[in-house]
Amino acid sequence: MTDNKNINLIPGENEQYKPVKADITCAKCGKKSTLTLRACVNVSLHPEEKQQVLDGSFFVYTCPDCGEKMNVVYPLLYDDMAKALMIYLLPDQTEEALSKLNSQQKTWSEDMLKAAKVCTMRVVRSINELAEKIKIYDAGLDDRFVELSKAFVFAQFLKQTPGCQVVQVLYERQEEKDGLVIFSKEGKQYWVEFPEGLYDEVVRMFEDKVKKSADTEYELIDAGWSMKILADINKA
Ligand SMILES: [Zn+2]
Repeated sequence: MTDNKNINLIPGENEQYKPVKADITCAKCGKKSTLTLRACVNVSLHPEEKQQVLDGSFFVYTCPDCGEKMNVVYPLLYDDMAKALMIYLLPDQTEEALSKLNSQQKTWSEDMLKAAKVCTMRVVRSINELAEKIKIYDAGLDDRFVELSKAFVFAQFLKQTPGCQVVQVLYERQEEKDGLVIFSKEGKQYWVEFPEGLYDEVVRMFEDKVKKSADTEYELIDAGWSMKILADINKA
């Protein structure tokens, strides 16, 4: 990762992320409201918002009439300039939205393209995945190697926990240890620690094989991505 200190990461005129208006109907009392949703959260300028994104409160809307709380999840760019990390939350039809997003690059200013070259650019599907990416980079890890480590740890978990129907697997650091939180369909939660040295071993094994695609594109780095990498290796 290149040092980004000398590069202006503030989007130019064309990339001003304008707030969008959205209508919402309260699920409890039916009250209709119009919300102003911000398209970008810049945690370098507003560090207090990082915690709100992590705990999900950033996305909670409270009905002014009845006090009902609702999650409002919409396309949002999470921008951490200090970490050169840009994560786009694209909750609906993520793959299509991702190709659309990448095809818009031609409209980016030179400054934005320069910034993008030194940034880690990711796309995620959900608030949980967004929080996960933030935690991975807070821990000083690379999400590509975390996804590959996950594949190994998760396969081991399934062997030891036969019949468990898993709905989500997320990286989590607990008591200074890297591991996974595994959520089962029945609402159970498991925490599985990464075996000692696994992550470093994965880095060694895959460093050369993990190709970086076009420098300025957003990428979806998830379980599907790691399965493709592992399948390519088995073919070779
Ligand atoms: Zn209400």
